[in-house]
Amino acid sequence: MPTHTVACPDCDLLLAYSASLARHTLRCPRCGCMVHRRADTSVDTALAFSITGLLLYIPAMVFPLMTLETLGMSESGSVIDTLICFYDNRYYFVAFIVLISAVVFPLLLLSLIFTVTMFARMGRYPSFLTRLLRLYVFLEEWAMIEIFLLGIMITIMKMRHSAEIHFDPGFYCFLALVLTTMAIATVLDRERLWALLSPPGAAVSVPSPPANAGSSGRTALASGLVLCHVCRQLERRRPPAAEPGRCRRCGATIHDRKPDSIAYTWALVLTSALLLIPANILPIMEVEFLGVPENSTILDGIMYFFKDGSYLIGLIILTASVFVPVFKIIGLIILLLTAQTNNTGYLRSKTVLYRFITFIGRWSMLDIFVIALLVVLVDFGFLTSIHAAPAATYFCIVVTSTMLAAKTFDARLIWDNHRQAACEAIPPLPVAKEAS
Ligand SMILES: [Zn+2]
Ligand SMILES: [Zn+2]
Repeated sequence: MPTHTVACPDCDLLLAYSASLARHTLRCPRCGCMVHRRADTSVDTALAFSITGLLLYIPAMVFPLMTLETLGMSESGSVIDTLICFYDNRYYFVAFIVLISAVVFPLLLLSLIFTVTMFARMGRYPSFLTRLLRLYVFLEEWAMIEIFLLGIMITIMKMRHSAEIHFDPGFYCFLALVLTTMAIATVLDRERLWALLSPPGAAVSVPSPPANAGSSGRTALASGLVLCHVCRQLERRRPPAAEPGRCRRCGATIHDRKPDSIAYTWALVLTSALLLIPANILPIMEVEFLGVPENSTILDGIMYFFKDGSYLIGLIILTASVFVPVFKIIGLIILLLTAQTNNTGYLRSKTVLYRFITFIGRWSMLDIFVIALLVVLVDFGFLTSIHAAPAATYFCIVVTSTMLAAKTFDARLIWDNHRQAACEAIPPLPVAKEAS
């Protein structure tokens, strides 16, 4: 049976899997990372979803999402309106983050997948397609329309007592757009696409790791190999003094470990920790009622839901806006100290922590999206209106810098000093767990 060799992106362990299985998942026995998932869905399915997404995009962005009605006055707003409001209020950084995460990147990702799968369907593989797919992998986590959708739901819960809410066509298009992009992420068989786009001779012949090496097997680095973090191809390691090489399959620059990972991550974590203070102390929005302005901090917003009896919504915002940023900062500090002190305790749990931090990071944008919608929808002139306040910018920087910190951290660093003793503590497993 032909086998492929891959390295675990989180702990660098070399793993083999049989190439002939159509549908399977491959989990690293050492750190538990899902190394490889073969969906066996055709390129046509992803193409069909990308066309659907592109058709839904304009109405989802431009048409009003919903209308709020109170005392005979009504106000409606679209996704684009939320940007314009932040821009008009001179919250340029927040407007920029909402622009890229809710408007530009979702369109870009749909267009990239459409182009790549369209060419693949025609059986043509020009060299620029690898660059497009690389861009898709790079930008994927920065498109946040599903979080925007949750923001819409929370806005509805918040406003349901004070105004009558009607859903407009934009909402249904937006909902369908979110479902379509989620479907693309599920059906996209990246390994197959990379294999299709791979230029001839790009594959590096790699010896399979010894059978039954399990969790105490060799790492890619120790075997003179290095993993491409974009397309997950193994390349031969360059001599330490040489210029960093490029992946022959996707063209990404390859480093043994992410360069200056520890220094960059510390800088970003400390920035987030510092800015988290003004983000929580300063008001995040200003509610004006009959001309009297009242400031509201993140915690005030949460208390509103608890007093209102909406405990679930209060808990969701409390988790996304307070617990998640604090948890991420503490978690990243633990990971940084582990990498710097060569600590070998609980490495598997710490790698799970790293994956969790990477996964939850984007969800903190929820509060920003809720404020964006409230500012647009609650604008009833003298009666009542809502504006963004300074903490919105600080909070937005905290979210982006913690996301960047999780990106710059290289989880393999905590495994690099993993001694044999620690290896033996974990019972040896077969080469890799494969589930058909
Ligand atoms: Zn691993
Ligand atoms: Zn690559």
